[in-house]
Amino acid sequence: MHCEASASLINRMKVIKTIEQMQFFSQHGKKLGKTIGLVPTMGYLHSGHISLIKRARKDTGIVVVSIYVNPTQFGPGEDYKRYPRDLERDRELAKAAGTDVLFVPSNKEIYPDGYSTYIMVEELSEKLCGISRPIHFRGVTTIVAKLFNIVKPTRTYFGWKDAQQLIIIKKMVSDLNIDVKVIGLPTVREKDGLAVSSRNKYLTKKEREIAPVLYQALVQVKRMVNSGESNSAKVLKEVKNLIKAKKIKIDYLKAVNLMSLKDVKKLKKKTLIAVAAWIGKTRLIDNMLIK
Ligand code: AMP
Repeated sequence: MHCEASASLINRMKVIKTIEQMQFFSQHGKKLGKTIGLVPTMGYLHSGHISLIKRARKDTGIVVVSIYVNPTQFGPGEDYKRYPRDLERDRELAKAAGTDVLFVPSNKEIYPDGYSTYIMVEELSEKLCGISRPIHFRGVTTIVAKLFNIVKPTRTYFGWKDAQQLIIIKKMVSDLNIDVKVIGLPTVREKDGLAVSSRNKYLTKKEREIAPVLYQALVQVKRMVNSGESNSAKVLKEVKNLIKAKKIKIDYLKAVNLMSLKDVKKLKKKTLIAVAAWIGKTRLIDNMLIK
């Protein structure tokens, strides 16, 4: 066990597939006085994920990255089946970023026959993405709570790219008194501003060219706020036109309070501007915080 817990020192990465082995590994790591950093992902790793892993590597003694495309967070007709998967590639990327343990459970392991328990953070889960994806966050909070119980992390790392998810996880941790520190890290972007996402792979060349307009729209909101405009309805209307001009279907573009995710009339500090839009058949999200 000592060798395993010190895996990072000899640059070996362990791949664990069962809950029992993962719990055993974490328990022993903790007995040795190690802190554990958990980075939950759905795989198809990219620079956004890598930034989380590298930060966990800096902060903690054992870095666990989970790769699991969680079926309960996908609604009927969503992209669960076609979600990109490439474990070989992920294994190399995770190892290079300093991962000690790659946790890759199967569906049977996570949701055995007869599974019936779900966690739901009310209200926050019903806003923004929760309107068009009503079961999404219930699936997210359930899998993340399970991962916390399995991996027993000291710290866990999430991206601001999925701001609503991060806010909901923080609320769950606080409400359920879960003993873990949740760290939110900034959105990693492509050179043209598009937020890096596994789903960008779905975009055709033409769609990829217009996709950065979501980021440009967020920047435009900031620009208007900086020039003294604070009426959110006015700003959002103007910025929506920017997106619609590219023939992109907006799911929502909203200005909300960072804590409650409720709509705000005035744009000010701690207002989150959040957008979700369909570019062809691909639904992308992005957001920006007014500081
Ligand atoms: P996913 O694999 O899409 O479920 O994402 C796993 C974690 O990576 C989540 O905490 C995401 O918020 C985070 N993440 C995804 N894309 C980015 C990005 N572009 N920048 C920073 N974090 C990201």
